[in-house]
Amino acid sequence: MRASPKLVSSTHPSLHLLHPTVESWVWNTLIRARVHHSAVSSHSSFIVYRRMRFHGVVPDLHTYPFLLQSFKSPSHLRPGQQVHAQAFLFGLSNDPFVQTSLINMYSSCGDLILARQVFDEIPEPDLPSWNSIIHANAKVGMIDAARKLFDEMPQRDVISWSCMINGYVSCGEYKAALSLFCDLQMFGGLNLQPNEFTISAVLSACGRLGALEQGKWLHAYIDKRGMKVDVVLGTSLIDMYAKCGDIEKSKLMFDVLGPEKDVMAWSAMISALAIHGRAEECLELFARMINNGVRPNAVTFVGVLCACVHGGLVSEGIEYFNRMTKEFGIIPLIQHYGCMVDLYSRAGRVEEAQSVVKSMPMEPDVLIWGSLLSGARMHGDTETCEVSLKKLVELDPSNSSAYVLLSNVYAKLGRWGEVRHLRDLMEAKGIKKVPGCSLVEMDGVLHEFTAGDDSHPETHNIHLMLDEIIKRLKKHGYTGNTSEVLLDLDEEGKETALYVHSEKLAVAYCFLKTSSGTTIRIVKNLRICGDCHIAMKIMSMEFDREIIVRDCNRFHHFKNGLCSCNDYW
Ligand code: ZN
Ligand code: ZN
Repeated sequence: MRASPKLVSSTHPSLHLLHPTVESWVWNTLIRARVHHSAVSSHSSFIVYRRMRFHGVVPDLHTYPFLLQSFKSPSHLRPGQQVHAQAFLFGLSNDPFVQTSLINMYSSCGDLILARQVFDEIPEPDLPSWNSIIHANAKVGMIDAARKLFDEMPQRDVISWSCMINGYVSCGEYKAALSLFCDLQMFGGLNLQPNEFTISAVLSACGRLGALEQGKWLHAYIDKRGMKVDVVLGTSLIDMYAKCGDIEKSKLMFDVLGPEKDVMAWSAMISALAIHGRAEECLELFARMINNGVRPNAVTFVGVLCACVHGGLVSEGIEYFNRMTKEFGIIPLIQHYGCMVDLYSRAGRVEEAQSVVKSMPMEPDVLIWGSLLSGARMHGDTETCEVSLKKLVELDPSNSSAYVLLSNVYAKLGRWGEVRHLRDLMEAKGIKKVPGCSLVEMDGVLHEFTAGDDSHPETHNIHLMLDEIIKRLKKHGYTGNTSEVLLDLDEEGKETALYVHSEKLAVAYCFLKTSSGTTIRIVKNLRICGDCHIAMKIMSMEFDREIIVRDCNRFHHFKNGLCSCNDYW
């Protein structure tokens, strides 16, 4: 059990008479100088503080706020508590600056309970304390607690709003982030204008949702407000446009940024090209980046390797992986190994993928086994599939997608008995399949479609339209590829299940609502299935429409009967 000393008191009798001495001023300067320039392991500002105490110099109000900033990892918690106790003894723990610093310190050290305790013992918390405790809650995903505090606080500034919006984004509640941003617009008033950090967070929510209209609106808002598109905001715009499917606009933003582009901006553009399957352009951009003297980092290489994966460029991928370590001294992270596993297994070189898994210095995670599984699955290697599945279930017993993938393999082989067995196993363990869900934005409003869900107000018309579409697809020989369907249904049943996949519902809705020639943009939470992929290809030709689908891995641009992924995904 952790000791939870009651460290904050309301008053302390002594030491209020202390005045900052020249001596403490010098020590404080030394502490401050080391806060931002010391590694977590050396913790040199704390060493300076201990020497200060050893020399009998009494800390003052300026000592703690800076010193406490240097406690930033769980290993700092114990010394952090000691310093807290000393601030209390010197009667400085009632100072608002010290209190806010204490909340931040406990939050950085990963102890939300102590952070909350400090906050709760402040009789009348000031705005920075409120903001700190909201941030502390949001950071660890206690988003509802953060929101409760946000709603309770007597007044809010732009930091409070940004903290809360950012909190929603980091825990994946993108719609809530957008709706809170709308509230800020409505209730914030003239004195409360969103700043670059707020906008950046909202842009990232738009990107995740594929909400291009709202993203464009934000871009216009940035221009209207005369906000400078600096490298941070520019990078957010590149990312938003790319994730919303408008890669040309991303490139435009990237070019506008000019010479101040940092490694983050270059990496964002590299990743953008990678997910759009523009492998060649991506590798060219990487070469340009090196020529411009910008040193790539681990994130850059995730983008580069990802481009090789989506482009099926195996030998290039191997080359970049080697260059990363040899030329740039970057130690591969699990993400890089993940790309290599993906690279080999998608190309059908499952044995090499397995040897990457064996060579990894760290424990393979769910993503690694998932890549191996999906590669093995594509190439019908049931043995590797089963091995990976076992590992996946070991690491995450509730992982539904592993079961779904394996059962797809069995379905492909017509081993319906095993499909049924897996389904029973899932049922027995109470594992629910993650429902396929597609999002489309229409006039700034997001519409959500789930497979087999009829809750949309226009569901009747959507189904009529879908029937019409399927009829026309059938003229082109479309039959509905039933080999990937999870359940052992009869032929007709299988066909129906395929027809109501969420992306098909979404596309039918777009046909209902948009004029001919309008590009259709869909964001899907799972990987697009083979049948929907074929259907989209034929649709793009038959109806002369460009359809852009972002699935959980990459973009598919369907045009004139072809897809940008070259059927490799
Ligand atoms: Zn599908
Ligand atoms: Zn595709």
